[in-house]
Amino acid sequence: MKQEPSLRDLLFFSEVPTRLDAAYRLHRRLEPLLMRDFYFLQLQENLQNLRSVLAAQMAQMKLGALCSHCASTAGGGCCSSEMAGETDTIQILINLLAGIEVRILQSDGSACCFLGAEGCIFAFKPMFCLNYNCSHIHRRNTREQMTELEGATGRLLSAHYHLESYLLEVITRKG
Ligand code: SF4
Ligand code: SF4
Repeated sequence: MKQEPSLRDLLFFSEVPTRLDAAYRLHRRLEPLLMRDFYFLQLQENLQNLRSVLAAQMAQMKLGALCSHCASTAGGGCCSSEMAGETDTIQILINLLAGIEVRILQSDGSACCFLGAEGCIFAFKPMFCLNYNCSHIHRRNTREQMTELEGATGRLLSAHYHLESYLLEVITRKG
């Protein structure tokens, strides 16, 4: 007899389209509840504020232009097709709860399926995608700028982890 996947396998280790479907189902079920959950709303607001701080630091270091240029060169960029596997159902759910219409933008395998013409579809990326630690960035920025970037990234990752943990607790509680 075929065994049903565990909740953990479904959320974190299923195929990307399955994770996406699961996130939409959870969103339909939990959004009304979460919009009245003061603790969730606080965690969500904190995450949004820290995302703005990181975005400002990245803009100050002109990373948008650097990464776009890098991605346009042969073999450049960080968003390979394998990186889509770094997404998980709860991270996708966090984006749906923030009003992002998450969908697969390409499936020819040339890049991550969530990479569109305007860049990554996510407001809140998978944790592994927030690893701005390549030689291109190091070469063009001072140690102080790198420290600011690492600090802003670390605070965002920590807030993301707390929000994911809380949502996992809610999902487990609600069955
Ligand atoms: S983080 Fe570094 S390797 Fe990745 S796209 Fe930006 S410049 Fe290129
Ligand atoms: S940053 Fe976005 S587009 Fe790039 S690999 Fe991560 S999820 Fe995919």
